[in-house]
Amino acid sequence: MNRKTFLQTTATMAIGAIVGDSVLNTVSATENHNPANASFPLMDLHVHRSDKQSIEQIVEKSKRMGITFGVMENVAPWGITNDEQMQAYIDAIKPYPVYVGLQPMSPGWSKNFSKDIIAQADYIAMDPQMIPNANGYGEDVQVWEYATYIDDAEAFMERNMEHYMQILAGDDPIDIFACPLLLPYCIEREYPKLWTKKRLQTIIDAAKARNIAIEISDMMRVPDEEFILMAKRAGLKFTFGSDTRDEKTGRLVYCKQVARRCGLTEKDFFVPKRKL
Ligand SMILES: [Zn+2]
Repeated sequence: MNRKTFLQTTATMAIGAIVGDSVLNTVSATENHNPANASFPLMDLHVHRSDKQSIEQIVEKSKRMGITFGVMENVAPWGITNDEQMQAYIDAIKPYPVYVGLQPMSPGWSKNFSKDIIAQADYIAMDPQMIPNANGYGEDVQVWEYATYIDDAEAFMERNMEHYMQILAGDDPIDIFACPLLLPYCIEREYPKLWTKKRLQTIIDAAKARNIAIEISDMMRVPDEEFILMAKRAGLKFTFGSDTRDEKTGRLVYCKQVARRCGLTEKDFFVPKRKL
């Protein structure tokens, strides 16, 4: 830990104590005593605004905790659906000292938007969590939902890989592959068996071919150490993503733990080009 980080962490602890933020306080205290602390940029590129968290609150938290945030908006029926809305979102966030990200949800999204407007975003992250026609009953699966139905795990994995490749090797612009390897709850226990080395390598090769960074998702605790080390060996970059939209923004416990275990350092991280 360098001096600046130490001072920031100490300051965070002090503020944490004042506001009674005991969870963060405990995390910071543990880190202060960990000599194996790696030096990586504290950056969370997966933060959302919501009615519980305004852009001003995100900026305030960034200053208080010494974390750089990237604010994302979904490009989806419930988020941005046209050029005008995309421009309005970018214009609303750009004046603040945070990065501006787009999070489209469906392959093929970019053909509905002007290239010039898309290019104003600092980065584009896409996750593979909404899989159309994902089981033998033709149902769409949202991987994070508790009640997903998978009749045949192997058949699902074939379909899942197709969906991954549509995103990674498709025509849409993408900088970050978000929340990779998360499996539906009903087959989650089979993670080591279903994520074969071959499948992992296929994902890594596809990401490498387009220089796509891998998000380490704090909330979903994916991907695991094995995948991160494989991706690191291939020279891929990483980002931290909390996928938060309320007071939880600022937690990065899993990200920091696994990054330290994998020996990730500054050079392993994707950082958007724009100077904040
Ligand atoms: Zn998100």
